[in-house]
Amino acid sequence: MKKTFALTLTLAAVLVMSPEAQNGRATLDAAAKALGAVDLKTLEFSGWGYDYVFGQAYHGTSQWPRFNVPGFTMSMDFVTPAVRDDRRRAQLESPPLGGGFQPLFGEQRQIWVASGQYAWDVVGGNPVAPRFRDDRRPTAEGRLEQLTLTPHGFIKAAMANNATSKVETIRGARKTIVSFTTPLARYEGTLNDQHLVERIEGWFGHVVLGDTTIEAAFGDYRDFSGIRFPTRIVQREGGYPLLDVTVTDVRPNATVAIEVPASIRTAKPQPPVGTSERLADGVWLIPAYAQSVAVEFRDHIVVVEAPETEAQSIAVMEVVKKTIPGKPIRYVINTHSHFDHIGGLRAYAAEGATIVTHRDNIPYLQQLWAGSWTIAPDRLAKSGRTPVFEGVLGTRMMTDGSKRLVIYHYPGNMHNPGMLMVHLPKEKILIEADSFSPPATPLTAPPNALPNLIHWFESVQRLKLDVEQVVPIHGRATTMDESRQIIERFSPNQTN
Ligand SMILES: [Zn+2]
Repeated sequence: MKKTFALTLTLAAVLVMSPEAQNGRATLDAAAKALGAVDLKTLEFSGWGYDYVFGQAYHGTSQWPRFNVPGFTMSMDFVTPAVRDDRRRAQLESPPLGGGFQPLFGEQRQIWVASGQYAWDVVGGNPVAPRFRDDRRPTAEGRLEQLTLTPHGFIKAAMANNATSKVETIRGARKTIVSFTTPLARYEGTLNDQHLVERIEGWFGHVVLGDTTIEAAFGDYRDFSGIRFPTRIVQREGGYPLLDVTVTDVRPNATVAIEVPASIRTAKPQPPVGTSERLADGVWLIPAYAQSVAVEFRDHIVVVEAPETEAQSIAVMEVVKKTIPGKPIRYVINTHSHFDHIGGLRAYAAEGATIVTHRDNIPYLQQLWAGSWTIAPDRLAKSGRTPVFEGVLGTRMMTDGSKRLVIYHYPGNMHNPGMLMVHLPKEKILIEADSFSPPATPLTAPPNALPNLIHWFESVQRLKLDVEQVVPIHGRATTMDESRQIIERFSPNQTN
C-alpha cells in the first residue's frame, strides 16, 4: 500500500511537472507569435526622450542626472548578435548638477556599438575602444544586454536559455512570469494576458552596489509593419531611471550592417594600469584612463583615488607595492562620490586601508554598500571586514615630518558638493578630479563643464596654493596656466 502511494505521488509529480515544462515553451511560443518575434532577425527603432548617466548623481539623495535626447536610433541584429545605440544628447538639468560632463556645450552625438565579443564607440566618425570600466556599458556583453531588454530580444533569449514560466496574480491581474539565467544576469519578465512583455528585471553583481537590478518597463504597444512594439520604454538601474523614451518608428528586419572595424578587431587588450611614473621624490603616478597617485610617507603609503573597479585597484596596489616595497597602504583618499571614482574603494578597505572622503559621503557609501554581495562577492565581502572611514570637513593635513599632504574641500561645485583635491606643498603638485581634465587635442569650441573648471580655478586662487604641476585623475599632467588659458578664451564672462 505504501509503495503504491509513493508511486502515485511520483506519477503525480511527473504529471504536474510535465505540463509546466510544456506551458513554459507554449508561453514563449505564444509571446513570440503575439509580438511578431518568430521571423525577426533584426530590429531598428527610433524616437526621442531622456537619458540619465548612471553613477554620476550630484549627491547621495539625487537620481542620476538627466539629459535631453531629441533623437535616438537603436539598431539590433539578433543573429550575430550586434547592437548600435546612436543618440543625440543635450543639456537638461538646470542648474547642471552632477557628472556626465555637465553642462554639455551644444548637442552631443553618442554612438555605442557592440558586435560579438567586440565593443567600440564612434567618435567623430572614428572607432574608439571604450575606456571607462565602472559599469557594464563599456563591455560588449553589457551593450548586447540591450537586446535582452527589448520584448522581442527577451523572448528570444528566454527560448535560448531554457526559461521556466509560472502564472501569478499581480494586483488582481493574471500575469505570466518567465525566468532564465545567462552569464550576465538572472532575468525575469512579466507577460500580460495578451502575451506581451510588460516588464523585465535582471539581477547582477555591481562593483559599487553589490546585488542590484536593471529593469525595463514597456507600455502602449502598437503595430509596426507586422510586429507589435511598445511606444514607451523606461529603463532603471540601481533604483533610478536610466532611459525614458517614446518610440515613434519601428523597422522590423531592417538592414542592420554592423561591421567590426579592423582597428578594433586587431587591438591588443590594454592592461588596466601602466607602470608607475615618478612625479617627485616619493610621489608616483599609476597611469590609467582614471588614474591613481601614490605618496610615500616614512612608514606607510597614501593612495589618492581608487577609480573604476576592484580589478583596477588590485592592479594599482600591485604596482604601488612594487614601487614602494615594504610599506602598507594606510589611507586611500577619495576625491568625490561618482562611481568611476569609488569603484575600487572596497578593494582598499579589504586591505585594511582607511577611506578618507568628504564627511557627507560616509553615510552615502555605507548605504550603497549595505546591500548583499552574493552574486559577485568581492574581496571586502569575502573578508568580512567593516570598512573604516575618515571624514574631511574643510581641510585635513597628513604629515609625518618627512612628507606633507593637504586635502582641501572646495565647496559650491556643481559636479559634486563634496569635491576634494590634494595638494603636496613641497612638491607643488595638485591632484584633482573632473574639474580640469586637459583636452587631448586643442579646443575649437568651449569645453563641456566649463563652469566647474572656472569654479575650481578660482578655488585654487582663493586658497593661494603654490602649484607647478596639476595631476588630473583623467588626462595628462599639466599646469594651472593651461586652465587659465582655456578660461580666458572661452569664459562667458569675457564675451557677455
Ligand atoms: Zn565626477
